[in-house]
Amino acid sequence: MKVLVCGGAGYIGSNMTYILAENDYEPIVYDNLSKGHASAIKKFELVRGDLADTELLEKTLAEKKIEAVMHFAAFIEVGESMQNPLEFYRNNVSNTQNLLSAMEKCGVGKFVFSSTAAVYGMPDAVPIIEELPKQAINSYGETKWAVERMCHFQSLTGRLNYAALRYFNACGAGQNGTIGEDHSPESHLIPLIIAAAMGKREDVKIFGNDYPTPDGTCIRDYIHIEDLCSAHLLALQKLDSQSELLYNLGNGKGYSVSQVIETVKRVSGKDFKVTASPRRPGDPPVLTADATKAIKELNWQVKYPELEKIVETAWKWHSENPDGYVD
Ligand code: UDP
Repeated sequence: MKVLVCGGAGYIGSNMTYILAENDYEPIVYDNLSKGHASAIKKFELVRGDLADTELLEKTLAEKKIEAVMHFAAFIEVGESMQNPLEFYRNNVSNTQNLLSAMEKCGVGKFVFSSTAAVYGMPDAVPIIEELPKQAINSYGETKWAVERMCHFQSLTGRLNYAALRYFNACGAGQNGTIGEDHSPESHLIPLIIAAAMGKREDVKIFGNDYPTPDGTCIRDYIHIEDLCSAHLLALQKLDSQSELLYNLGNGKGYSVSQVIETVKRVSGKDFKVTASPRRPGDPPVLTADATKAIKELNWQVKYPELEKIVETAWKWHSENPDGYVD
């Protein structure tokens, strides 16, 4: 089966591309390379294009005989989403509508969508179950929720089967530590700590140490990139018989910012400066997933439940690629 991987040159999309190929799918990457890296997917076919380019999208879907689309192409920086909300709506919502319209026109009816735990905003209870209210507190989360609703209504027409997968904190490197995380600018905790361990940053800043958690720092649910991707594959298979799938994807286990820093110190054997900094606006104290639904319905099995192993794969990639991807 030929699968179009939109945003397939990015961190999650590139890992997904490898996993699709390993499982006898034929991935074709569609990416404008505004954020992604061609060198991450050099073994694979790449269509360099924008999701706003209706003509190229329709041509690609039709000529390549695409049967399913996985969609990872989006802006993800929460802070930026509050500075430039319209850009987020354009890229994350309007471009996705364009993609879904092209799929409808070309008769492509399977869609796996990269959503986020940010759709829940400040949840009333953790671990988070899928039914909790969707009350995003930033435009990033709101754009992902808008796409989920668009897919929902389109699925009711019978012309779309979709899965919306709400990620918690994706991290680590796949393919034996060879396909890693390289964002510019980087805002994610684990790559930032690793940069400090490698001497590329002066320190690691802890955004708030007075939260109501055991050590005062925020707790998040870190899920290895290969585990995240394996759930996508299972969801894609289930779309043969289901029109709407909604799953949280997380480990179900929380680690605090201080615990993550200690883990990187242990794994790398390096010490570095840690600085207490003010809270980052909009950070809930604890965000963990209840992923029971995905585990039960998809038979999803997490291979990396331990943070130590996850960090080992990230450390391997960063130490072997100190300057990130070359292009
Ligand atoms: N964080 C931090 N220092 C940093 C980057 C992140 O203390 O330099 C914290 C952040 O406030 C959050 C956690 O680390 O509590 C994970 O942040 P990240 O941006 O990686 O993911 P998010 O949970 O926001 O999706």
